[in-house]
Amino acid sequence: MPATTSSSSPARIRRIGLFGGSFDPVHVGHRQLAECALAQLGLDELRWVVAGQPWQKERARELAPAADRAAMVALAIADEPRFRLERCELDRSGPSYTIDTVDQLQARPDAAGAQWFLLLGQDQYANLATWHRWPELLQRVELAVAARDGQPPRTSAALAAVPHRLSVLAMPPVAVSSTALRTALQGGASARSLVPDRLAAAVAQYVERRGLYHSTPARPG
Ligand code: ATP
Repeated sequence: MPATTSSSSPARIRRIGLFGGSFDPVHVGHRQLAECALAQLGLDELRWVVAGQPWQKERARELAPAADRAAMVALAIADEPRFRLERCELDRSGPSYTIDTVDQLQARPDAAGAQWFLLLGQDQYANLATWHRWPELLQRVELAVAARDGQPPRTSAALAAVPHRLSVLAMPPVAVSSTALRTALQGGASARSLVPDRLAAAVAQYVERRGLYHSTPARPG
């Protein structure tokens, strides 16, 4: 009987990115950051984690319903098979803490042995030491940070005191924010500038059909 040979090359480790946000609404800056991360980190998949109850933002204003924010993200990522909409924060109650999401996703069987990256713009990286259980988060994921508003990735003093893995993403500046878009939409602007051209029409139609932002009431007080 002939000897059998088996391949001894180890299985490639899957590289999974997490990209969290309120996405209220999703926009071209989000898409650009995600595309840069796919290419520069060699990700096998990138999960767009729509915050159910963004603990940093909910007190300041009323968000669009989570189901609408998720539906807009689904439309904005539909053309890229490595992008996935992650709904786990929508299904949890309470504030959407990223460390809870990491706990949940890393415990799934399909995640065994994967390498995890957390994508952030500089504004969020600067705030990271205010996040729930942040030192633990730093042990569980590698950070991938992009410049924003002309601010390059810069490590805060609190973060510098704790070892962490960091990749800096090269990204052409995209001067857009959800806040600016909401303001423009409330002022009657077209929703077509939200995401790249090929996807804009679908997201814009969704915004218009659902009457989002034009009529968003400000939260009193
Ligand atoms: P808002 O204006 O409501 O605060 P936002 O535009 O910052 O919203 P989020 O959904 O809070 O959007 O952002 C999700 C992530 O995307 C964050 O890490 C944020 O830093 C990053 N991000 C958003 N817009 C840009 C941009 N134009 N350039 C680089 N990073 C961005």
